[in-house]
Amino acid sequence: DGLLLEVDDLQVEFRTRDGVAKAINGVSFELREGETLSILGESGSGKSVSAQAIMGILDSPPGFITGGQVRYCGTDILTLPEEQRRRIRGPEISMVFQDALSALNPVFPVGWQIAEMFRKHRGTNRTDAMAQAVRLMERVQIPGAKQRVRAYPHQFSGGMRQRIMIAMAIALDPAVLIADEPTTALDVTVQAQIMSLLKELQTERRMGLILITHDLGVVADVADRIAVMYAGRIVEQADVFDLYAQPGHPYTEGLLESIPRLDQKGQRLAAIGGLPPNLMHIPSGCPFHPRCRYAEDVCRADPPPPLREVGVHRLAACHVSERLLAKEGTPAQAGP
Ligand code: SF4
Ligand code: MG
Repeated sequence: DGLLLEVDDLQVEFRTRDGVAKAINGVSFELREGETLSILGESGSGKSVSAQAIMGILDSPPGFITGGQVRYCGTDILTLPEEQRRRIRGPEISMVFQDALSALNPVFPVGWQIAEMFRKHRGTNRTDAMAQAVRLMERVQIPGAKQRVRAYPHQFSGGMRQRIMIAMAIALDPAVLIADEPTTALDVTVQAQIMSLLKELQTERRMGLILITHDLGVVADVADRIAVMYAGRIVEQADVFDLYAQPGHPYTEGLLESIPRLDQKGQRLAAIGGLPPNLMHIPSGCPFHPRCRYAEDVCRADPPPPLREVGVHRLAACHVSERLLAKEGTPAQAGP
C-alpha cells in the first residue's frame, strides 16, 4: 500500500549536567510513497531531533532514544543490527541538510564526492561513477556539469552547493528523502527553485519526502500533509489545504497568523507571544498553555488528550480543537 515509514511513539531525551530534556515525547507519523509530509515548528520543537533519530545521527551522548519504533517497510530500524541498518540509512533513507558547505568535504572535487556514493555502495568503477556523477549534476540543473564536476565546494554558490547535496542524497535512489531546512540559508528566489527541484525529483522517483521547516510559507506549495510540532510533540496533523483553511490547534492558528497575507501587503505580522518552553521544565497540563489564547483551567491542570482524530484526515491534541474547527470564518491565509 505504499507505506514506507512509520514512526511510532518516538521518545528522545537529552541528558545533561543540568538535567534531562524531553526533546521528543511520543512522536508518531507515517509516510507513503510519493507523499510529501512537512514537519513544521519553531526551533527547539524537536523537528531536527526527530530526523536525526530516524537517520541514526543523533548526537549521542547527550541524546538518547528512550522509546518507540521507526519502521521502514515494516522493520524497526532502531533495533536492527548495525550492518543492516547501514543498508537502509543512506541508501534507502537519505537526508539533505541546511548547511551544504559543512556537509560537503572541502578538499575533494564535488564530482568525486558524488561518484564516491556509487563506488562505496555499489562498487562502480571510477569512470562509470564519474559519468553518473555528471548525469546527476545535470539532473539537479548545475550548468556546465561536465566541467564543474572537478570544481571544489567553495567554488559554487550556496544554491548550487545545495543542488550538489541533493544530487548526493538521491544518488542511490532512496525511497525516503528527509530535507532539514534545506533552503533556510538561501535567498528567497533560490529557495523557491530548490523547493521545486525537490518536488520534481520526488514526483519523478516516487520518493516519500519529509520537509522540515520553521517556515510554512516555504512548504505550502509542495507539501501534501503537515505535522505541526511543539515542545517535542506533534500537536496537529492535517492535509495542507485543510490546515490553511482552518487550523485545528491554537498553535497552528498562531503560525498561520504570523505568515504574510497576500491580500494585506505591509500588514504587521502577529507573532505568537512568548517563547517555546524550556524542555527541562515543560509546563504542566498542555505545554502550550502559557502562550495560548484559548487556555482554560483544564489546560493548566491536565495534558490534552493525545493526538486524536478531530476531523476528516485531521489529528490534533488540544482540549478545544472541535470548537476551533466549528468556528466560522477563520481567516483565509495566503495559502497554496
Ligand atoms: Fe490551548 Fe488548552 Fe488547547 Fe493547549 S489544550 S492548545 S492550552 S486550548
Ligand atoms: Mg533544526
